[in-house]
Amino acid sequence: MFPPLIVGNWKMYKTITEGVDFVVRLRARIKETADRKVVLAPPFTALYALAGALRETGIGLAAQNVWDREAGAFTGEVSPRMLADAGCQYVIVGHSERRALFGEGDALINRKLKAVIQSGLQPILCIGETLGERETGQTFAVVHRQIKEGLKDISAADAARMVLAYEPVWAIGTGQTASPEQAAAVHKHIRGVAGGVYGEEFSRQMPVIYGGSVNPANIKALMAQEDINGVLVGGASLDVESFAQIVEF
Ligand code: PEP
Repeated sequence: MFPPLIVGNWKMYKTITEGVDFVVRLRARIKETADRKVVLAPPFTALYALAGALRETGIGLAAQNVWDREAGAFTGEVSPRMLADAGCQYVIVGHSERRALFGEGDALINRKLKAVIQSGLQPILCIGETLGERETGQTFAVVHRQIKEGLKDISAADAARMVLAYEPVWAIGTGQTASPEQAAAVHKHIRGVAGGVYGEEFSRQMPVIYGGSVNPANIKALMAQEDINGVLVGGASLDVESFAQIVEF
């Protein structure tokens, strides 16, 4: 179907020098990644330098965020066109830290997705429930709403460019991973929701990756689940050895 997708989200870590050094050491450590797709998401400041360092490695480049317009008076923001110009192929949209710390809601995320798709980049749409929502039995309803509203008025042809990342908020940066079975159950539900909107064939083709305290010890069990097509890795992507072990699961 598609190769496993392994995305390293560096969040607000690593300078340009540190990022380029990471790539040099990762390339020396991992020789062959032809049967999987590896993507790195450094801070904005390191994107252009990493695009150069990653040339002809087969490793992709993602931004962690984007604004929903091409250009204009939006001080401090970066457009999809600028990200493409810097060498990105992917953009993470709707990360739970953006939703929780910067007040991003489904309507803004929907506009960002449309702008990213229009620019030819591939969005990685993050969805997932908080601990409170899980404990009150709302997990399926929350991801259902996030998919429906996030993808509002986006055609199947456009949505086909998207990767969905299920990231339970309670598992991000906490060391508390969803069990492979918990994750797989939600991935199956996500596929069902996408199938309801765009049809079954579409939902079978849509990559759904998992994020939340992924590490070298749990990657194998997660990737053994049929509906888990890859992982979005935060903390464990900052260290070459732990990220290499995840890539080589
Ligand atoms: C993330 O930042 O998307 C993430 C999943 O972080 P961590 O792996 O540290 O939980």
